[in-house]
Amino acid sequence: MAKQFKPETLCVQAGWSPKKGEPRVLPIYQSTTFKYDTSEQMARLFDLEDSGYFYTRLQNPTNDAVAAKIAALEGGVGAMLTSSGQAANFYAVFNICQAGDHFVCSSAIYGGTFNLFNVTMKKLGIDVTFVNPDDSEEEIAKAFRPNTKALFGETISNPALEVLDIEKFARIAHSHGVPLIVDNTFPTPINCRPFEWGADIVVHSTTKYMDGHATSVGGAIVDSGNFDWDAHAEKFPGLCTPDESYHGLTYTKAFGKMAYITKATAQLMRDLGSIQSPMNAFLLNLGLETLHLRMPQHCKNAQRVAEYLQKNDKVAWVNYCGLPGNKYYELAQKYMPNGSCGVISFGLKGGREVAIRFMDHLKLVAIVTHVADARTCVLHPASHTHRQLTDEQLIEAGVRPDLIRFSVGIENAEDIIADIEQALNA
Ligand SMILES: *Cc1c(COP(=O)(O)O)cnc(C)c1O
Repeated sequence: MAKQFKPETLCVQAGWSPKKGEPRVLPIYQSTTFKYDTSEQMARLFDLEDSGYFYTRLQNPTNDAVAAKIAALEGGVGAMLTSSGQAANFYAVFNICQAGDHFVCSSAIYGGTFNLFNVTMKKLGIDVTFVNPDDSEEEIAKAFRPNTKALFGETISNPALEVLDIEKFARIAHSHGVPLIVDNTFPTPINCRPFEWGADIVVHSTTKYMDGHATSVGGAIVDSGNFDWDAHAEKFPGLCTPDESYHGLTYTKAFGKMAYITKATAQLMRDLGSIQSPMNAFLLNLGLETLHLRMPQHCKNAQRVAEYLQKNDKVAWVNYCGLPGNKYYELAQKYMPNGSCGVISFGLKGGREVAIRFMDHLKLVAIVTHVADARTCVLHPASHTHRQLTDEQLIEAGVRPDLIRFSVGIENAEDIIADIEQALNA
């Protein structure tokens, strides 16, 4: 299905193709376990000699149908759903890094991912070096070591909204014999497909636009199947040498292009859990059915709100890569010619106090921690997610004290702008 249909068709139909008499709509397989007729049949599943379902901690048919849809949208060979975006990012790296290993990461990433990489994974013995993604290839290459196993970046970073030069990052990763992992949460595959620019693994917080209705926390890992693990076998023993926990099976030999994603399911999900619930996968699938309709509306509305703010003399600055003159405008045009995402950031003259007053006067737009769903919402990192930091520490972390993160929904743009205007004038 992946090859012959366009994204709009994949959003609606990929992943679930019912046969005669089966439900038209993807069912929720609300079952922990699956039945077999003989002991031998079950044994073969445990040895990965047959594929099939046995326990929902590893695989579930509802999840697999939704994962197949996401894989088709990204143009990958396989995907796995996780219980959150955090779990997806952790598994994506942990699948190829172990204690003593190292990876390189763009500094323009989501705060939760930064903590995971900079604090928690270091406790597991996996080291990370953060690089400025706008630096030259030569500068970024200096961060690589003999034990470096991956390069990581975000297509559009949350909340700084910096756009990643995916081709540049792919060149750097591949010249060091490691895969490029890209978090593609904000643009979604409707606006950008990182595999087409050389990325090897894509991760998502499906909690955001993919679900799109703020009902379900979830994540996904997608494998392009393109990285040649065996060509760098000494770096990736987990994929290229026998797995003792599966009677000496070698993933690259047994599963070819599906080696990475099969290991993530068979080994990491088995041992660490964090599967998405079938109910959440079902809701995610409903969101995906309209992703191609919602993303253009988010982008169109965000562009109008950004242009309105830019013209308003109460506004000190606006950051949106769709605005000509923005530092990332050209990169956004290259990688996301049809639009980037609905999230913008801006500051008001008068700084922190004025920002708080503005937000408290919004009526249609709600103050919530979330971003990227159908309803317009707003957050002031200095007062909320980053409130323990001083103004100096905020600036060091790349978050200006007056920064307002504004996630533009799919309502009517004039209603959103009217709410902003009345709050600015209040
Ligand atoms: C929200 C987010 C995450 C974390 O996802 P959760 O689903 O909240 O665990 C990771 N990356 C990006 C870019 C995000 O916006």
